[in-house]
Amino acid sequence: MTDATGEEPLVRVRGVKKSYRSGGGRLEVLRGVDFDLEPGGFVAIIGQSGSGKSTLLHLMGLLDAPDAGEVWLAGRRVDDLPGSQRDRLRNTAIGMVFQAYHLLPELTALENVLAPLYVRHSLREWLTAGGAARARARGLLERFGLGGRLHHKPRQLSGGEMQRVAIARALVAGPQLLLADEPTGNLDEESGAGILEALSELNRRDGLSIVLVTHDTAIARRADRIVRLAAGRVEAV
Ligand code: ADP
Ligand code: MG
Repeated sequence: MTDATGEEPLVRVRGVKKSYRSGGGRLEVLRGVDFDLEPGGFVAIIGQSGSGKSTLLHLMGLLDAPDAGEVWLAGRRVDDLPGSQRDRLRNTAIGMVFQAYHLLPELTALENVLAPLYVRHSLREWLTAGGAARARARGLLERFGLGGRLHHKPRQLSGGEMQRVAIARALVAGPQLLLADEPTGNLDEESGAGILEALSELNRRDGLSIVLVTHDTAIARRADRIVRLAAGRVEAV
């Protein structure tokens, strides 16, 4: 599927519906969402709390499947893939960052960044390729100003530092797409600005495609394009 410019979108969401069981009935959160992200694009999705932003991001991140509609990634339909293929794709093509960082408290910054690779490889692969992976993880942390924090545990880091570790972790497998769910939501303004600057630079300099979810329109303005989720649908802003 290509658009009018002939360029295939990296992410294409078509007619997606999602509801949750709620009491005796169902809560219809997404009621037919259409959304495209062009390769190398940086789009912000805004919407009130409870409008379904995280639900939509989770569908794009293959963490959940829609009730109806389709999700395409790089020209391939992905919402109907079997679980194992979906997991593999999620672990290689997509990086995710969340408001609450979700770092493992017992691991150092460097180990947290390496964790997605650890779980994916056999011991044999790890023994041969582990050195390169460690170098890549260290390089990412250095790029984000954390060269002096490699062996710190999350509790020894500030919020902004923890989120930068989480971004490095999201990028260690070299994904094309970064999905960020309110990544500055727990941060003070200055730390949040640092995170947004890092995302901007990843988009501009590395061509990383980014979907940024936020309820804050000032933050959304950092993206190239803004869409709003309201009444279960995506509309242009
Ligand atoms: P947002 O991220 O925009 O704040 P969410 O996508 O998290 O919104 O949630 C949209 C609505 O769906 C909310 O009313 C929320 O309570 C509900 N919801 C989200 N996840 C679940 C779930 N797993 N089970 C039941 N209801 C859910
Ligand atoms: Mg949310």
